[in-house]
Parts: sequence; structure tokens; C-alpha cells
Amino acid sequence: MVAFWKNIISEDMEKLNKEESLVMLPISAIEQHGHHLPVGTDSIILEGLLEKFAKEKEFPGKNVIIGPQLFVGKSNEHMGFAGTMTYTAKTLYDMIDELTDCIVKSGFKRLLLTNSHGGNTDLLNLISRDLRIKYGIDVYVFDWWFTSFWQELLKTEKESESPYGVFHACELETSLMLALAPQTVDMSRLVDETPDKMFEDNEYVSLYGPVNMGWKTRDVTESGVIGTPSKATGEKGEKMLQYAVEKLGEIVTELLKFGY
Ligand SMILES: [Zn+2]
Repeated sequence: MVAFWKNIISEDMEKLNKEESLVMLPISAIEQHGHHLPVGTDSIILEGLLEKFAKEKEFPGKNVIIGPQLFVGKSNEHMGFAGTMTYTAKTLYDMIDELTDCIVKSGFKRLLLTNSHGGNTDLLNLISRDLRIKYGIDVYVFDWWFTSFWQELLKTEKESESPYGVFHACELETSLMLALAPQTVDMSRLVDETPDKMFEDNEYVSLYGPVNMGWKTRDVTESGVIGTPSKATGEKGEKMLQYAVEKLGEIVTELLKFGY
């Protein structure tokens, strides 16, 4: 079964077979997404994806529990754009640590930190190891920004030519938002913006490394967009959403079999 933590009766939570259970903790962001997308984009995408996932997936004999979503994440790179909210790394670290303590005290032994915002990734990878060591549970990080998660789909769907075409408020996120919450999107205000020019003479320093920068969004974009949202469509978004649900299903299936 797949269930949301908030909907489970305490007594039933206690009775769940913890050996056959995985808790997902969704972590997202509230931050500027250009002139055409709402600040809740990362939150809305993750929430919508997990709702669809819960409806469509079952994992017979297993329990997949979706914990309370953290809507605000670590977004200090976007400060200076109205509407952005952020925790400091320390605060977010403590919040995830304290929620993990509660998850462990409820008897669970396996945790999947489920992320929709690239600015959270470093912290999640770092804390996953700390939680593993502190609580002796299995901790995993699911992240789609710095992994191969979307690669297969983007091979056929991506139309952006810039290497930064799918980065922030981009073809991917805009398509997903057109599928999930079109009433919050204003395509008439959309601009494409990518920092190709800024890095054209560099061999090493870029947003993709191998030399990373502690960049702020304002360093690389005027509009707040890093990508080509003009290539986005709702139809593409539907495909992306279904792809993500299926892929996440495969990931969870594998995790339910795997242990370390
Ligand atoms: Zn985003």
C-alpha cells in the first residue's frame, strides 16, 4: 500500500510491519521561478507527483508511507527575489534530523528523502550519511536534479538546445506545471534565459563543474529563469508526470528489495 502519514491512525501505524516499510520524506522549496511560474513550483510539482504516485501505485505486502512535506527548503541562492522563503542549512538540517527521530521512534527503519529542489541536494546527501550513522537506519536520497532520473525522457522530449535548457523555471518545470496547476502559470510573461555566454570561454568553471561555484541566481540570470520555458507544453508535462510516477515506482520497488 501507499499511504500518507497524516492519514494513518496511530494504532494502525504501530501495527505496521516495519521490516516491510519505507517512509518517504518530501522536501521541496518556495522560491522565485521567473515571471511566469508561481513561487511554489517545486512544492506543487512534488505534491502533485506524490498524489498521483499514491493513487496509481500499490506495492503488495509492503508499506510505503509518505511523510509530511516540507514546503520550504534551502533557497538562499534565490533571496533578493520577492516571495522566496528559505531555511538556513542548519535549520533545515535540524528539522530533518528531528523528523527522522520521530520516524525512528515510530519504529521505521528505512527512509527515503524525496527532493524536488536542486538547492537542497547537497544538504540531503550530507545528512543522509549523518542520519544513517546516528540512528542506524537505511537512508536514501531521491533527487532528480543531479542524477540521471529524467535522462531517458529528455532524450526524446527535450527541445531546448542550451545545456542550461532544463535547469530552473525551465522547459521541464514549466511543462510539469502546465500539467499540474495551469491556472498558476502565465505563459504570456515567459522569457527564456540561459547563461551560456557567461561561461563560453571556460573549460572548467560552470554551473555543472568540474569546478563548481557558490553561485547566486542573480549572478546568472536577470529574469530568474535558467532555461528555455518557451519549449514547454502541457502535453509534454503529462508525459513527464507519468514518466516520473513510473520511474519512482521502479525506484521504490528496488528499495523495498534492497537493504544494507
Ligand atoms: Zn524549481
